[in-house]
Amino acid sequence: MTQRQNGSKRESWNIDKPTSKTENQEFGKGEKGIIICGVCGAAHFKKRWYHGLEKINSENQNLPVVFKLCPACIQIQSRQYEGRIILENVPKKFESEITNFVNAYGKRAYDRDPMHRVIALKKNKEGLMITTTENQLALKLSRKLKQMFAKVVKDISFSPGPSDVVYITIKF
Ligand SMILES: [Zn+2]
Repeated sequence: MTQRQNGSKRESWNIDKPTSKTENQEFGKGEKGIIICGVCGAAHFKKRWYHGLEKINSENQNLPVVFKLCPACIQIQSRQYEGRIILENVPKKFESEITNFVNAYGKRAYDRDPMHRVIALKKNKEGLMITTTENQLALKLSRKLKQMFAKVVKDISFSPGPSDVVYITIKF
């Protein structure tokens, strides 16, 4: 498990949110350079993550580069998530539709922001479980699923977890 230095609160990585102190410490407030994630290749520059070094303005591409894991890859490697959706009692006939939709949704989110990812979609004894790196992504995705299956969804519930984690249950 990866522990942050302050140990307690895990920060959200929504780029719309002002950067927190933790984030600044972790990604070097003083560092003027670029961070590249050795796993996914995302590049961090001026508080934003981009899809690789080539997406950063060329005049800045010569700045010093350090290699570190990005927050999304840290989360995935340490088996953490910020959003979890469990779909209970999904009728078998909807399973592939849901899988395809979730995969496409995750891809679009990632295309817009490399830190926004659907981590996994798994079938377990509770039902279909979707995990995401970002809580807002899970909330939006769950509302979309509820809309898509409005006729068969019986209930949706949200509960906040520790830090910024959100747990969502959709009952069919
Ligand atoms: Zn990464």
